[in-house]
Amino acid sequence: MARGHLIVISGPSGAGKGTLVKRLLADVDHAWVSVSATTRAPREGEADGREYFFLTRDDFERGIAAGDFLEWAEYDGNLYGTPRASVQEHLDAGDDVVLEIEVQGADQVKANAPECKRVFVAPPSLEVLEERLRGRGTNSEESIRARMRTAEVELSRKMEYDCVLVNDDLDTAAAALADYVTGLID
Ligand code: ADP
Ligand code: 5GP
Repeated sequence: MARGHLIVISGPSGAGKGTLVKRLLADVDHAWVSVSATTRAPREGEADGREYFFLTRDDFERGIAAGDFLEWAEYDGNLYGTPRASVQEHLDAGDDVVLEIEVQGADQVKANAPECKRVFVAPPSLEVLEERLRGRGTNSEESIRARMRTAEVELSRKMEYDCVLVNDDLDTAAAALADYVTGLID
């Protein structure tokens, strides 16, 4: 069986990565999204093993030392990482594997798996990004400010990606992402 593609979806928090990944899973066959580990606290409605594996910092650091993560990064005061083994299993099974991760992690994946395809999800503007972060209602004011500062650095990197999607109209962006993924060959 042909190995699946490794697809990295990155971009600033609030740009719509999670929303677009959900649409992608509904739109294409044989796609699987990796569940990351994090040290941040679960938000209301999040379940361990579904949105994230919620770990203590000690457990996360043990995972780093054991080489359990394909990539990991510190973001907004917490650690986030992609469990290596399940990604490998799904690629070997022929699934397209989707990683929804921030920009530092996307750099590490590119360095370790240069064949990966990287998609950058950009907001139409910084103003809209801030509105979306606020509208989501999941982050404190301090966290929104930190994420907006990081967003400016992240946005400066977008031209390094294989595909840049401006997530303005959701249906248009979701269709463009599905077209990109289904158009990948090899
Ligand atoms: P990310 O995963 O990049 O942090 P989310 O997918 O959580 O971003 O989206 C942030 C907020 O913006 C959510 O409330 C989501 O419903 C909303 N959103 C996402 N895409 C769009 C869009 N195209 N138009 C309007 N709102 C959107
Ligand atoms: P949140 O706290 O909003 O769930 O996520 C914060 C940021 O961390 C988002 O940009 C999200 O894409 C990113 N992220 C989630 N999982 C991972 C991961 O496994 N690795 C890295 N590097 N970033 C991640």
